[in-house]
Amino acid sequence: MVLNDLGKKINDALQKLNKDYNFDESQIKKALKEIQLALLQSDVNVNYVKQLSDNILQKFKMEEGQMINKKKVIQQSVVQELTKMLDSKKQPFQLKRGKPNVIMFVGLQGAGKTTTCAKYANYWKKKGWRTSLICADTFRAGSFNQLYQLAMKIRVPFYGNITETDPVAIAVEGVKILQKQNSEIIIIDTSGRHMQESELFDEMKQIYSAVCPNECIFVMDGSNGQACFNQAQAFKKAVEVGSVILTKLDGHSKGGGALSAVAATESPVIFLGTGEHIDDLESFKAESFVRRLLG
Ligand code: GDP
Repeated sequence: MVLNDLGKKINDALQKLNKDYNFDESQIKKALKEIQLALLQSDVNVNYVKQLSDNILQKFKMEEGQMINKKKVIQQSVVQELTKMLDSKKQPFQLKRGKPNVIMFVGLQGAGKTTTCAKYANYWKKKGWRTSLICADTFRAGSFNQLYQLAMKIRVPFYGNITETDPVAIAVEGVKILQKQNSEIIIIDTSGRHMQESELFDEMKQIYSAVCPNECIFVMDGSNGQACFNQAQAFKKAVEVGSVILTKLDGHSKGGGALSAVAATESPVIFLGTGEHIDDLESFKAESFVRRLLG
């Protein structure tokens, strides 16, 4: 099942309830089963799914007598519970003014990592922070130029070394130089990788250990299907992922992958990528995201 079907499946289950205004506990249980199945098929953690369903049922039982519009109450509970699921209970990293905040970006190749590094630099630059970019991707041909061009476009300092083959050396040197230039947000773009390539995961760990970033942001294509949970978990296992940015939420995707990303990384989603342009970055609000997910 494609994750984007999640919203539709949940809505379908709720629609069935709508047909019968006076539904009872057995009908709500039936609807909850369908919702559970949709979430499980979307690789959402089984404990979260059970909890969501238990909470909604409990609310129904407690308030049934006073419910004027049962359908609405159930719909609202689903929104509330999904919003809760998106709350990782962990505060995202708080940038510190006047300090060199080193932010490392990781993610699979093609997720939108390089683009997102530049969007992130631009977002904070517009808010008055001194931001800069480092290309520590020596794996993908063209990544140096891509990030360089983006840095020129948004007018932020850039560090890269086209002749150096060791990404760890580039990252370390780049941080050193940009620190000296009083950059407040130093963003490191690392090489994208495919899930099967363990040596590339090792490279990411080496950069992480050498640079000790203040924050590690996992960039994930929000339109990825079932793979979301495993991907996010693999990155979380390799490095200390602190927060998540979901990209490509401008297409058909409604972004059910966010639920999996939060569950797998136990980290908050902080931004959404909503297009290919430099300004297409939205800060993440759980409740409006869930409303969008449910259409
Ligand atoms: P990387 O391999 O992870 O560094 O990915 P890139 O940053 O090179 O992006 C891969 C492709 O995805 C490029 O064509 C980007 O323009 C595109 N892309 C990145 N973010 C978004 C987004 O939020 N929406 C859309 N539609 N495309 C995006």
